[in-house]
Parts: sequence; structure tokens; C-alpha cells
Amino acid sequence: MIVVMEKDAPQDQIDDMAARIEGLGLKAHTIVGTQRTVIAAIGEKREDTRESLAGSPGVAEVVPILAPYKVASREVKPDPTCVVAGSLKVGAGHLGVIAGPCSVEDEEQILATARAVKAAGATALRGGAFKPRTSPYSFQGLKKVGLELLAKARDETGLAVVTEVVSAEDVELVAKYADVLQVGARNMQNYRLLEAVGNTSRAVLLKRACSATLDELLLAAEYILNEGNPNVMLCERGIRTFESHTRFTLPLATVTYLHNKTPLPVVVDPSHGTGHAYLVPDLATAAVAGGADGLIIEVHPSPADALSDGYQSLDFAQFETTMARCQRVANALADSDPSET
Ligand code: PEP
Ligand code: MN
Repeated sequence: MIVVMEKDAPQDQIDDMAARIEGLGLKAHTIVGTQRTVIAAIGEKREDTRESLAGSPGVAEVVPILAPYKVASREVKPDPTCVVAGSLKVGAGHLGVIAGPCSVEDEEQILATARAVKAAGATALRGGAFKPRTSPYSFQGLKKVGLELLAKARDETGLAVVTEVVSAEDVELVAKYADVLQVGARNMQNYRLLEAVGNTSRAVLLKRACSATLDELLLAAEYILNEGNPNVMLCERGIRTFESHTRFTLPLATVTYLHNKTPLPVVVDPSHGTGHAYLVPDLATAAVAGGADGLIIEVHPSPADALSDGYQSLDFAQFETTMARCQRVANALADSDPSET
């Protein structure tokens, strides 16, 4: 349930209410909004919990949260969340662009890509060091060496680093190097991993599993938020359908649907979502036109030679033209609605 505090409730009343909620064995998540402060009380409630909280000093009302996810719901936090991680800003009017190779391969590859994507307008660098591959015989990533190379690229370009963590035991190591921890599609429902990233101070990019419903995605985000980490970005990266001409099917309706249900920003991945480099520029542009808060795009100096996902990676020139088109669409949207910046 949500305890809605009076508009002018002083801080000590807000703190007292949070303490009372915790005293009832519930978790209190305090959310300071532009209009009001609310405290979400999460956990198993007793019959009389609602009555015992209503009527306390500074409380305007106590209302149930209808959605199955709680802290991830717009009922609790109507204002959109802006996730900030170094150079990356995503949400609440900020369009973030994460670009880079599927996998970090060597120093020259990651440094050249970092320079090129930054020059084209990317605001963060992606690159997998720990790779979840369908086949155990495929390249599994450079692991710690890959993380070190990403940190080197950040030092040189100033771009925030987004990289995947595939298991709970690696979270501490990856969090030492990354600005954003990516939880991949295959791990969206790895609940121990979600809790582990929720216990770090790093932002998280949570990718939708290819057969997960949007409620399942939001409940996965809830695991991270429930550990006290509010900096979660959701990522639509395509789902599995009967269609076989594209690697996955990329549903852009996800963006508006999620904006209606959650304050968390929504990032679109047109690379995995289509599986073909020639489709990426149009789908990236369409995602921006449809209100996405961010893009994550695979870019490689020589896609034909990539150790993973080369067929869906853009080269530098293709990424530059894609960025220019996305920027024009973003500017047109901002001009047509001055309330969106
Ligand atoms: C990736 O970003 O390279 C990746 C493995 O993505 P996903 O988890 O969406 O398949
Ligand atoms: Mn990939």
C-alpha cells in the first residue's frame, strides 16, 4: 500500500511514518515527488495495517497498490525517473545512446569504437566482457581483461561503461569497472543475480527475456528496486515469435505501455531486436519517434570480422548516419512539444 503524506508534511513526520512501517515488519520505500512524498509499504500486511497507518500525523491517505509490482509502479512514483551514470543520462526527457561492440575483443577494437561512437553522439560505451553465449564453443568474452580495456576506454573518452554481468558471484568484480550493470535477456529471471545488482550502487540495464511478459519484466525490476537500488532502466530487445525473417520481433508498443505503467526509463535495442544491420537504422529512428528514452546499438570497426553478433552490428559510418537521423527526430519531437526537452 501507499502512504500519501500531506503536501506540507515535515520531514520528522515522514521519518516517523517510515519507522512505523518498518516496525510493522514491512519495508518502507520513501519517494519524494514533485507534488508529494509517498511511502510505499511493501510486504505481508495484517488486516488492520491500513487503518493503523491512516489518521497518523501528516498522512493524507493510505491507498492500496493495484499492480503486482509495487515500487516499479507509477502508482507509487508518477514522475518519470532519470537514471544518471557518469556521462549517461536516460529518461525524463533525456535521450541516452549506448553504443559499442557486442564483445570487447582487444584494445585497438574497443578504443577505436569508443572514439568513433563518441564523435557520432553516443553518451555511453557498451561492450561485453562476460558473454552469455548460446553455444559453449562460442567466444565467451575476455572477462577481467575486457573490463580493464573498457575502463581504459572510459579514461580516454569520458564515456560511461555499460557491460553485462552474468552471475551473482561476478557482480562485485564487474561493479568495480562498470558504470551500468547489464542484466541480459537470458538472466532476466535470475532472481539471485537481480538481488545482487540491487545491492550495488551501480545503475542497472535490465533486458527483457525473449519470452517474458511485460509484467514479468516489471516484477524482475521490482527485485532490484526492492533491494534499494532505484536506478533501473528497462530494455526492450525483441521477443520470440513465429516470424523467422528477423532474429527476434521488436515490439515498439512496449515503450508507451511501460511509460504508462512505470516511471522507469525504457531503452530499445534494435540490434538484437532485428538481428540484421540493415534494419537497425530504421528501427532505431522509429524507437526515438515512439518516445524511447534510450537506445543500445552494436557498433564494430569491421562487423564482418566481429567475434560475436557482427551480422547485426553497424560500422562507424552507418552509426554516424543513424545518430544524425535519430537526433533530427528527437529535435523535431522537442520542437513540436515544448514540454518535452
Ligand atoms: C548483448 O547485449 O550483447 C546481449 C547478449 O543481449 P541480450 O541479453 O539482449 O541477448
Ligand atoms: Mn550482442
